[in-house]
Formats: sequence, C-alpha cells, structure tokens
Amino acid sequence: MPEQILPNLYRLPIPLPGNPLRELNAYLIRGGDRALLVDTGFRQEPCRQALFSQLAELGLGPGDVDVLLTHLHSDHSGLAPEAAGETGTIFISDVDRPALDCTREEKTARWAVTTARFAAEGFPTELLDSMEKTNPARSMAPPEGGHYESLTDGQVLEAGGFRLRALLMPGHTPGQMCFWLEKEGLMLLGDHVLFDITPNITAWTELPDALGAYLNSLDAIRAYAPVGALPGHRAPGELAPRVDALKEHHRQRLEEAFQAVKHYPGAGAYELAGYMTWKIRARNWAEFPVAQKWFAVGECMSHLDHLMAQGRIVRKTEEGFHRYQAV
Ligand SMILES: [Zn+2]
Ligand SMILES: [Zn+2]
Repeated sequence: MPEQILPNLYRLPIPLPGNPLRELNAYLIRGGDRALLVDTGFRQEPCRQALFSQLAELGLGPGDVDVLLTHLHSDHSGLAPEAAGETGTIFISDVDRPALDCTREEKTARWAVTTARFAAEGFPTELLDSMEKTNPARSMAPPEGGHYESLTDGQVLEAGGFRLRALLMPGHTPGQMCFWLEKEGLMLLGDHVLFDITPNITAWTELPDALGAYLNSLDAIRAYAPVGALPGHRAPGELAPRVDALKEHHRQRLEEAFQAVKHYPGAGAYELAGYMTWKIRARNWAEFPVAQKWFAVGECMSHLDHLMAQGRIVRKTEEGFHRYQAV
C-alpha cells in the first residue's frame, strides 16, 4: 500500500524476499505531467508486482513515470528501465551512470575488475565462481537499455511542485546521491544513512579511499537539518545522532582492522576479515555463507584502504596477493 507522506508524495514499500534488508523504500512524486519514481527494487517478480500494483493504485501505468535513482545498486535500480518504459527518463548521478548505462560486455568487464581485487585479497577462487552465479547484485540488475540522463552535484529537478536538489554523497557507491526538498525540509537519503542497519561500505576502483569519502559525506549530510530523513531501507529516524553513531562505528571498526593487521602481518583482507567481529549467525569465519563473506571482505577492504590513506598501514603485492603491514 502506498503510504502518503505529504500531498503528492508517497512511500512505496517494496519487499526484498530473502534479503536481510527486508524492504526497499521507493518514493513517488505525483502531480506533474509525469510522475517521478525514486528507486525501484530488484528486477525480480515480488518487487515487480509490489511496484506496479502500487503505481496502479495511484493511477499510474508503466511508462507514466520518470525514474530518479539514488545510486547504482540493483535493489534500487533493477526495475528502472521497465518503470520508465519507452518514453520515460532514468536520472542518475554522472558518477554512477556508466555502471548502468552500458553494454552487457562492459558490465561483465566491471565485475571482473571487482572480482580481481577480491582474488588478490585471498578470497578463494571457487567461492568467487559461486558468487558469480548467485549474486543478486548481478542477476537482478537492470538489463541493457533505457534512456539515462546524468545529474551533477547541486542540480535541481522539479516534479509535482517539489524542487529536489541532488547532493553527491560518495561512499556507499562512488555516485550515491541524496535529494534535498528544502521547502518541505525532507531529505531522501538512499543508502547514505540508514537507521537500524549500517550501510555497507566496500572498496571501489573509482574511489580509492571509499571509507574516507564516506566519512566526509557523513559530515556533509549532517550540515542539513531535515524535518524528515527518509532512508532507502527500513524506518526513518533522526539524522544528526545517527550520523554520529555511524562515525563512531567506523572509528571502532578501523581500530579493529588496524589491530588485526598488527597481529597478523602479511595477511590479506580475506584472512583479516576473519579476525574481525561480525553480526552474523555462524560459528566461525569458515562457516559464513559466501554472500556474507563477500560483504565482510568488502567492508574490511574499505577499512584497510582508509588505514593506508591515513598512513597507518602499508600494502605490498607478492605473487599477485595483497599483504598488509602496520607502519
Ligand atoms: Zn545500496
Ligand atoms: Zn539498498
């Protein structure tokens, strides 16, 4: 059921079955020639049904909307081309756009670069192969095609009497954007800040110190004082205290990663992640489900990259494998 936030502004809950995120919050702005849909859900049947039935309740069919994406991730972008149809536009930051507005071959090449980093960190090849087949980020991503348009930092979009200012907040993805509705005091956060889960911060080739960028983006978003902070998943909350809690979380995780490097010199991120603590129901690192290992190692890499940027650790590459050492 669409939930009205303000006249002409709705939250559309989209279930993500089997995913720990549980639900995506899509938002819809009505009232103009075309409606504007912010984020869409995975390209899979339960998301498709939830999205299009709620659009229908609001009198909208596929092709009646333009789509605004907070970032490239498949749980946000998967149904964008279907929702925009032949005539709609898909808006996304100029930074994240190349990851979606490209050929299937280009997408495969991008994944190969990511996979190579994980392999260099000691992630077992057979696990990487199985990830390739099961990773929802790949199988439920938008297909080739769709009419994309780039947004730059500070650009304003108008829809249904609302003005949305795009704010580039790199970290969760290189081109993550938040959208500021200044008059109403509302901030659409995407996955930059979530309230009862910690946004995943992984390593990106386009963003050599993703965690450093993320921490700067947390300071940048904290400067706003929204009446309503609307996240991409789960319930809204109060922005400033949540930003402070996330900064403290990463400070502690950085310390934990640093101690792991100090005690296990020469280890790669795969091994080091096993020495860090994770909120996952498994007896030990070896028993982590592969998808959880992938996220854990990604998090670990972003913390190692930031420790390197801080000059606290160094990385050597030996026979293709990354080895970290405390300075
Ligand atoms: Zn995301
Ligand atoms: Zn998400």
